[in-house]
Amino acid sequence: MRYLILSDLHSGLEAFEACLRSAAGKFDSAVCLGDVVGYGPDPNAVIAQLLERTGLVIRGNHDRACCGLASAEDFNPWAKTATYWTRSVLSDENTAFLCGLPAGPKVLPGFEMVHGSPRDEDEYIMSALDAAPALQEQNLQLVFFGHTHYQGGFAHDRRGAVRRIGIEKSGEEAAYESRVASLTLQDGTRYLVNPGSVGQPRDGDWRAAFAIYDDALRQIDFHRVAYDLPKTQEKMARAGLPEPLILRLEAGR
Ligand code: ZN
Repeated sequence: MRYLILSDLHSGLEAFEACLRSAAGKFDSAVCLGDVVGYGPDPNAVIAQLLERTGLVIRGNHDRACCGLASAEDFNPWAKTATYWTRSVLSDENTAFLCGLPAGPKVLPGFEMVHGSPRDEDEYIMSALDAAPALQEQNLQLVFFGHTHYQGGFAHDRRGAVRRIGIEKSGEEAAYESRVASLTLQDGTRYLVNPGSVGQPRDGDWRAAFAIYDDALRQIDFHRVAYDLPKTQEKMARAGLPEPLILRLEAGR
């Protein structure tokens, strides 16, 4: 079985469509680790596209806030503005869909899906130090997480050492249309893997991120793909979304 692993779409339709085009024919089933909406200009269209592909979706903190299940009070001012805007444009049906999304962890054959971490859906796993407790406790060899918008993740080997999963990058790399980096799972090592963010990457590469996991080959491919960024930015400007949210997309921060 080949799984398309998506996370943090954040209402970015052009980014999402570029991922779907790039992944076409390469997966059998799709899953989403949360934050379908928030920040970007196309919440309804992104939900519609997602629902055409999969029902295997867990909620993220922005999904909770944008459907009114949680307050946006602890968000920064730009995220808060984007949340209120999203609430104002979401259809009733899509608001209900977001409110009904289950919290992680969700267990599938061979792996687990979480938004933040297996212990807390809102936890940020940014460093090997953050990852260590989760990796030590994790039952399955493989957990997919999102929330940080950083493609990669962490591995815990037989000797108990936790290391960052390195994805090769060069300075000019982000100029290319697309890229794939592969990771083969090793026996005795546990993995916390982040496919990266579709709609708002923060790891310094502006291109949309996703991963494909092939459970027969025990291989994860980390993809990056260019998309029509000016179109997304134009829609955000027209919607009156905050400028820093528009600019950060091209920096990938
Ligand atoms: Zn997010």
